[in-house]
Amino acid sequence: MNHRKPQRAVICLYDGFGYDYYERSPLPVMKSMAAEGMVKRGRAVFPTLTNANTVSVCCAAWPSEHGVTTNCYFDEASGTARFLESRDFILAPTIFQRYREAGVRSALLTCKAKTLKLLGEDTVVAVAAEEPTPDVVSRYGAPPPMYSAEVNQWLWTIAIDLLKTRPDIGLVYVQTTDYPMHMWGPDETQSLDHMAMLDERLGEARVVAPDALFLITADHGMNFKTRCLDLRRICAGHGIELRFSVSPVADRLVVHHRGFGGVSYVYLHSKGERAVIQGFLRGLEGVEYVLSRRAAAERFNLMGKRIGDLVVLADRSTVFGDLNAEFEDLGPRYRNHGSLYEEDIPLILYGTDGIVPSPENFVMNFDLTRWLCRTVF
Ligand SMILES: [Zn+2]
Repeated sequence: MNHRKPQRAVICLYDGFGYDYYERSPLPVMKSMAAEGMVKRGRAVFPTLTNANTVSVCCAAWPSEHGVTTNCYFDEASGTARFLESRDFILAPTIFQRYREAGVRSALLTCKAKTLKLLGEDTVVAVAAEEPTPDVVSRYGAPPPMYSAEVNQWLWTIAIDLLKTRPDIGLVYVQTTDYPMHMWGPDETQSLDHMAMLDERLGEARVVAPDALFLITADHGMNFKTRCLDLRRICAGHGIELRFSVSPVADRLVVHHRGFGGVSYVYLHSKGERAVIQGFLRGLEGVEYVLSRRAAAERFNLMGKRIGDLVVLADRSTVFGDLNAEFEDLGPRYRNHGSLYEEDIPLILYGTDGIVPSPENFVMNFDLTRWLCRTVF
């Protein structure tokens, strides 16, 4: 590590902030920061879901290195789906840990409690809007509901206050919720209002922390989806019994997407069935690719033992999940992610002490934090 104190850094992870939201919202502050610094259309890690991408950004690493490939996994011992909420699953050091070891304090602000459970260690301030502590409530008021755009505003109020009053904190990480993106497409008024609010708060952050470096990106984009398939039921209807199928997008907060997603991990009873089942799934309308565990791990840099025997990828308008029937039409308002079609996200860097690195160094969202770690450690 360099001997001088590293430049204060703010990591803004806007959950669900696909590149289309960046393009189609005015965002005067963010776009002026991008013009002065760097902006690029980048890519999210596959599957395009929150945990895999959040942990990739926070570890500056691929899922093959840190091991987090899902929000929800199949526990072979109990034969049930379980939520991935414990720090033990992360097999690489987090950026918070590396900063702490280097003697620099960090803060983690997030909407969802699960992010705190996964990543809150090694920080001096850790706030989840979902489960605020009494001292947070007494300073900032009670958070708005989790299923609102306002909760993101509340979170940024804390970020701005920390930037203003706690110069001893060298890394501030803010992760909003993607609820507004689940609800509204980039051109809808409510979305434009939400993005304008975020942009205003970013402007305040820049004013109170003119010395800071800003890294802005997202964990995935969002698209309208029209149909859900229950792969286990469809297979059963054709005499094929799957051991298990899990939507890696599922988490405890399912009101806005019901746990469906554009990817499925399918577990088989035996290896011998693989070719037949793979062939059958490939033939389904709405399924684009069916990859073996090994092929998926190689292609997407995933940890093979933490995905299904088969990885099923949906087309743009389809999701997978548990239903009471084989299929369900989702209506015109349903938005979700998880597939290859939610990979496009913005990469923005601002405040780099005059030296702007070449955009060629940045492809994935976590290339931003990888670059940060390289400059700091
Ligand atoms: Zn997300």
